[in-house]
Amino acid sequence: MTTAILQYNTKTEIEQTALTVQQTFKSGYTRPLKFRRHQLEQLWRLIDDNTDALCDALYMDLRKHKNEATLGELITTKEEINDALVHLEEWARDERTTPSFINRVGTTCIKRKEPKGVVLVIAPWNYPVYLALTPLVGAIAAGCTAVLKPSEVTPHSARLIAELIPRYLDNKAFMVVNGGAPETTQLLDHKWDHIFYTGNGTVAKIIMKAAAKHLTSLTLELGGKSPVIIDENANMTVAAKRIAFGKTFNAGQTCIAPDYILITAKAEEKFVPALKQAFLEMYGPDPQASKDYGRIVNTRHFKRLCDVLMENKSGDVVIGGQADENDLFIAPTVIANVERDDKLMEEEIFGPLLPLIRVTDIDDAIEYINSKDEPLALYIFSTNRKLVNKVLDSTRSGGVLVNDTLMHVSEGTLPFGGTGPSGMGSYHGKSSFDAFTHVRSTMIKGLSPVIESAMGLRYAPYTSWSMTFAKMLMETTPQFKRGFLQKYIKWIVVVLLFGVHYARNIRH
Ligand code: NAD
Repeated sequence: MTTAILQYNTKTEIEQTALTVQQTFKSGYTRPLKFRRHQLEQLWRLIDDNTDALCDALYMDLRKHKNEATLGELITTKEEINDALVHLEEWARDERTTPSFINRVGTTCIKRKEPKGVVLVIAPWNYPVYLALTPLVGAIAAGCTAVLKPSEVTPHSARLIAELIPRYLDNKAFMVVNGGAPETTQLLDHKWDHIFYTGNGTVAKIIMKAAAKHLTSLTLELGGKSPVIIDENANMTVAAKRIAFGKTFNAGQTCIAPDYILITAKAEEKFVPALKQAFLEMYGPDPQASKDYGRIVNTRHFKRLCDVLMENKSGDVVIGGQADENDLFIAPTVIANVERDDKLMEEEIFGPLLPLIRVTDIDDAIEYINSKDEPLALYIFSTNRKLVNKVLDSTRSGGVLVNDTLMHVSEGTLPFGGTGPSGMGSYHGKSSFDAFTHVRSTMIKGLSPVIESAMGLRYAPYTSWSMTFAKMLMETTPQFKRGFLQKYIKWIVVVLLFGVHYARNIRH
């Protein structure tokens, strides 16, 4: 893999960047929808005009095939932009609510969609373009200003992003900082209005601690061990192809890659040959020679994966097992009959190793999933509705996909995010807009003396009369006791009481 020299920003540059985006947001410059729309269009053009350069950078960083780069990073981001362009006005529109009884007259209640403000987006290395630019779509659409910190682990992509963003986007509002942990730490010392972090859980705790200092809100897009349950009656050929795809796309370095499989011994007999066949069809007999198969991002991660495999004591390697450090290559590797507490089952694998855990039945599989942290994704291969519902009702995870892998991430109508240790908050489609938006509750009241006369009931001196009337205005009949009469009687009584109250006020 080529080593690129990524220019890290200096301390002074980082300070200046943080200050600039603060000042730009304060000026109100990013709020008009026209501005947001133009920036989104520019971001789309950034990708479209530079498709080859982006694909080249992704190839140099991860040896990502052009198809994988285009489908997994560029089109997905462009679709997010297009979705935001189609719905921008609708998402940003004020929403009027129907006020409760006490505020029904002379009051307007509005949910205003306001930008959270100045946001920091911290991206990881595994999808260095998609995971940097997609959160930015939400920030732009919501009317925020943003600093983007790409991952230094994929330097070609980070360098290209830093070069392109100022050429296409407004560089007072959207800026890039390059660097590693010290530069990110310096950024985190500043007060942000929202931090959007994608990466591992250990660094997420550092981010959360930094955010806590300023009570800054967070979106945390993290990872975890995403399990796959395979029902004995599932179509094994199709299941194997879809799992092989999910496990080898980007060489398994995907936050929602199938991490391990829960399967009965009987199903395993049919599944393993089908999986072997699927890998063979995808990458041929020598995956290292296949131009379609990616590489591990760097030596550190290569060694981490080899160590996990070496230290894992149980199970048999039934597919793959080859590795070449000079080429950062690890073959798609399947380890059958792994013990539940062995090394492969400790941390998120994040590479092309796939352990198979034997279970006796679906209850056993559910119990095992529930004994571990809530995963980012849960996969079920089955056409048995009852079994699928049982799994859904008795487990927790960020998302669920039945009879496929990875594809739910591409669905803009579904929020994407984790729960518990797999993350906090979500994005994609409207959820991206919402992640960077503060819904400002706004109540506007009239100053009419007639309304004031009723509202005056809350002022001292308190009387039993004002109490009775105020109770009538504020307290509703509970839903379960509400008949036809109760629905209208309140209005009649209130109008009568109000008439008496108003007449008394006039006499005084
Ligand atoms: P990474 O090493 O690139 O780190 C992510 C970001 O954190 C980088 O920008 C990096 O500079 C910054 N960082 C690293 N150490 C830091 C520190 N000490 N202080 C401040 N900032 C620091 O990426 P990673 O964490 O290895 O990414 C892989 C993980 O991300 C996996 O666990 C994967 O599941 C998860 N992930 C989740 C999603 C999702 O959408 N939920 C997507 C991709 C990856």
